[in-house]
Amino acid sequence: MLENRISKQSGLLTEVESKELLKRWGIPVIETKLAGNKKEAVSISKKMGFPVVLKISSSDIVHKSDAGGVKLALSNAAQVDRAYTEITSSARKKYPQAQVQGVSVQKMAPEGIEVIVGMSKDSQFGPVLMFGLGGILVEVLKDVSFRVVPVTESDAAEMIKEIKGYPVLQGYRGKKLVSIPALEKIIVEISQFVEQNSRIKELDLNPVFAYEDGAVVVDARIVVEG
Ligand code: ADP
Ligand code: MG
Repeated sequence: MLENRISKQSGLLTEVESKELLKRWGIPVIETKLAGNKKEAVSISKKMGFPVVLKISSSDIVHKSDAGGVKLALSNAAQVDRAYTEITSSARKKYPQAQVQGVSVQKMAPEGIEVIVGMSKDSQFGPVLMFGLGGILVEVLKDVSFRVVPVTESDAAEMIKEIKGYPVLQGYRGKKLVSIPALEKIIVEISQFVEQNSRIKELDLNPVFAYEDGAVVVDARIVVEG
């Protein structure tokens, strides 16, 4: 069924589409719904409960923040109303050619430690998973680890321990910071997901928020082979 859904599309799936696939696969994602217009965005956010996040939804826009396309911590209908206008007009200005589906409305995830899980295809090894801490640690320090798919639970445990930033996840002075098993589970599930859906060419969960008692995917991008 999943392959069916994927086979209809090729190229970059939007965040909403990517999260829907991940959710069907049992991977924890933050509640996310597409709004085609402002009125819908307001009514979805009321139903979801504040605070919410609004993001531009377009398969032509890869970096949503760079396009002024992300507004966090909106706490009432008036803020959602304003954010919708700002996001769509700023995206239109920056990417006049982009086909915009609308705006996604998401629950604002509580603050966590940001990690990333990625998959790319190597010409020799096939699908390879990557794990790292989010933000500057990945962008500047390239503090990441890799394993060839299939990734087992013990591989996933090693991947997490290998990064230099591991102490950030492990906690200190007896304080348990994040659930390592929750991260291992996501890595293994992503490995199974890409193994069984071979047309997935690239995948980026950036970021995943990690907590003491779990983890949740906050942004997702999947590229499907045409
Ligand atoms: P981009 O396309 O620019 O990568 P993201 O969806 O990753 O956009 O959003 C940018 C940042 O906003 C994330 O790195 C994260 O820190 C924060 N963020 C995004 N979505 C949420 C959310 N639902 N709840 C809380 N924070 C979020
Ligand atoms: Mg992101």
